[in-house]
Amino acid sequence: MTTTVRFAPSPTGYLHAGNLRTAIINWLFVCQSGGRFLLRLDDTDAARSREDYAEGIRADLAWLGITVAGEERQSARLAAYDAAMAKLEADGRVYPCYESAHELEMKRKIQLGQGKPPVYDRAALALSTTERAALEAEGRRPHWRFKLDTSKRMVIEDLVQGHVEADPASLSDPIVRREDGSYLYMLPSVIDDIDMGISHVVRGQDHLTNSAVQTQMFEALGAPVPAFAHLALLATREGELSKRLGSAGVAFYQEQGIEPLSLIAYLGRLGTSDPIEPVESLAPLADGFAWSKFNKANAFFSQDELALLNQKLLHHLPFAAVATRLPDGITEDAWLALRGNLTRFDDIGGLWQLVTGPVTPVIEEAAFIAQATTTLTSLAWGDDIWKRWTDALKASSGRSGKALFMPLRLAITGQASGPDMSALVRLIGREGVLARLQG
Ligand code: GLU
Repeated sequence: MTTTVRFAPSPTGYLHAGNLRTAIINWLFVCQSGGRFLLRLDDTDAARSREDYAEGIRADLAWLGITVAGEERQSARLAAYDAAMAKLEADGRVYPCYESAHELEMKRKIQLGQGKPPVYDRAALALSTTERAALEAEGRRPHWRFKLDTSKRMVIEDLVQGHVEADPASLSDPIVRREDGSYLYMLPSVIDDIDMGISHVVRGQDHLTNSAVQTQMFEALGAPVPAFAHLALLATREGELSKRLGSAGVAFYQEQGIEPLSLIAYLGRLGTSDPIEPVESLAPLADGFAWSKFNKANAFFSQDELALLNQKLLHHLPFAAVATRLPDGITEDAWLALRGNLTRFDDIGGLWQLVTGPVTPVIEEAAFIAQATTTLTSLAWGDDIWKRWTDALKASSGRSGKALFMPLRLAITGQASGPDMSALVRLIGREGVLARLQG
């Protein structure tokens, strides 16, 4: 079976850091294993699902460079759910229940008062056909529960969490369909995973108990149970992920100049035993991907760490990775000379302007700059001109360090700091440098 994964957000908002991380890890796994990445929109909540959110999710995945091999939406799959429900009903694995929310709440309170776990008592299973008919005659509509097999413990050999067991007797039979006929998340997700040929379900640890229950649903539907990988959750040192971090999709990172590759390198390795470090492409992240590297403990997200990684990554990005995004005229030589001064990619325009001008030279020591001009005109231009020029000036002026270099930098770039002068001077060229020295 080809590795097939799905990323299954609800289009009820934009993606948050936790979703993005799930998507990225699914993607890295697929890149490593040569599988397929599918998008599933969990849009059964018609009131909260919106098409612009679905669009936002697709755009975010595209920005990350994730290739979506196919898309399904739950709202279009109701017939498949109805068919599976019919089978489960025929097999006695789902049953109708008539308790109102209020009645269920009362049962819970009584159980808790008696010190018992609030597990649904399966009273509805005992209803006779006549009793059900009477309830329906009262105008009650049933909701449906999946009947857990309590004869054996539920076991998951999770790729991240390891061996996980749960006792079905400690859980309520999950409600799978509401009174109005709409479906809750639990069962449709399993039906989708079967129909979409999902080999690995990769999602947050908060779904671990759902997965235990879902293993029984796969079995009840006569399907193999996929492999599971439950990722430890994302937290910040302060506790909660901030609202802003938590709800804006990739726009939040785009605004800060974060590169897609930085976000992948960061979220793909956060909470793993691999170092978080700059990469030149996706390849090292995908090649080194292994479930065994993921920690079971929460991963801590830090905005500062991400920003720092982004900066380091920019400083290492090869020309080929950025060529199509660069402003006209920037050669490989120029990129390599300037990239080390980027805080964000967009800064490249400003740095390039230091080369092409216009710049306003700052000449604070006219006599020294005049001397520097004379020295420069006496030398043959070449790639090592900066070294020969400043060596000569050092000897003739007795200056060194800042006293020697700063007036030159100010005259040539108009700024007190910036890219390596040797590279800048080479890029600006003889005529340009001389023009700036003359103000
Ligand atoms: N829509 C669910 C969520 O976002 C999907 C969980 C899953 O991956 O099955 O939590």
